[in-house]
Amino acid sequence: MKKPALYWQILIAFILAIVFGLFLKNAVPYVEWMGTVFIKALKMIIIPLILSSIISGITQIGDAKNLGRLGLKTMTYYLTTSIFALLTGLVLVNLFKPGVGADLGLQKTVDEVALTQQSFGRTLMNIIPENIIEAMVQNQMLSIIFFALLFGFFITRTSDKTNTLLTDFFSSLFEVMMKITMFIIQFTPLGIFGIVAKVVAEQDNLLELFSTMGQYMLVVILALAIHSMIILPLLIKLIGKSNPWLHFKAMREVLITAFSTSSSSATLPLTLDAVENRSGVSNKVTSFTLPLGATINMDGTALYELVAAIFIAQAYGIELTFGQQIIVVLTGLLASIGAAGIPMAGLVMISVVLTAVGLPLEGIGLILSVDRILDMFRTTVNVWSDSCGAVIIAKSEGETLTI
Ligand code: ASP
Repeated sequence: MKKPALYWQILIAFILAIVFGLFLKNAVPYVEWMGTVFIKALKMIIIPLILSSIISGITQIGDAKNLGRLGLKTMTYYLTTSIFALLTGLVLVNLFKPGVGADLGLQKTVDEVALTQQSFGRTLMNIIPENIIEAMVQNQMLSIIFFALLFGFFITRTSDKTNTLLTDFFSSLFEVMMKITMFIIQFTPLGIFGIVAKVVAEQDNLLELFSTMGQYMLVVILALAIHSMIILPLLIKLIGKSNPWLHFKAMREVLITAFSTSSSSATLPLTLDAVENRSGVSNKVTSFTLPLGATINMDGTALYELVAAIFIAQAYGIELTFGQQIIVVLTGLLASIGAAGIPMAGLVMISVVLTAVGLPLEGIGLILSVDRILDMFRTTVNVWSDSCGAVIIAKSEGETLTI
């Protein structure tokens, strides 16, 4: 019998994992390791993969003018879509007012959350690493991307001999890393089974959670759905002149992985593979836009920051003025740029938004209990937006895609 396609394998694993997590809670420790191994394998390849991908991509882009143009388009896309996402969230949270009458008794301690906050200015400064090896050891993505961009760019400024040697070296390294990625991808169903079973088993009172926080969760999910199912596909169709449905089909496995892992960074190897090999975007574009996108373009997180902050204001009965709501939009954008592509990074960043408009930090305690679940949805939107950006930018560069 032929093995079902990977997508079906993943979907079946996902459903089985939910059943397993719900009914065989005690057996979860026996399967959990599969998820841990899978995530470890993905993390293992991220740094050599993005280094080789960016360096070989940049050497293809060549001169500073091309690089500048690509950079400008990428940043414009990131900002535009994040602002669309924020506005969608703003309209829905003001329309449904999920926080009015919310139960403040749910509060939990937030000391840890508030402590890990990092200012936006510091994040910018930290892009330049003091020590590139240390940056790699600590997984500081923006620093690694920055170094790789410089390295790739200056390869093109060297003598012909060095240029050919290094270009060949990094494109060969990239080829090997992609092969390893494809090898790991085969194990996605097992990995997802382990991860999802654990997440489900950990949510001990799903029903109760839903009855107290349901309205808030629905507003976040509805706004995310509007952004990802209406706004982004329209952009692909109208500006990218491509078929959003075909692109979605190419991205299915990636999106379920993003949903299950709640990490844009861990999903990055799969995103690179699918956007390049299935949607047909060149390595020149993916290598530039996707690693950067996984780190700074987070439409889902931006939207979430905003809805969460306004929800907290509503719960405390604090009326935000129009000006304050604009500040929430802007800080929500900054917080999403600053959030790392790892689980629950967005939760930590809410403190930036709350502080900006003087809302109580304790409010984070209100939304803590449902953050992990909402993280799954917002991460999926983050990754989907990165991939749509790569398609739109590739088209604008005159590429012919397979979608
Ligand atoms: N988990 C999200 C991501 O990796 C970040 C967040 O917590 O919002 O994209």
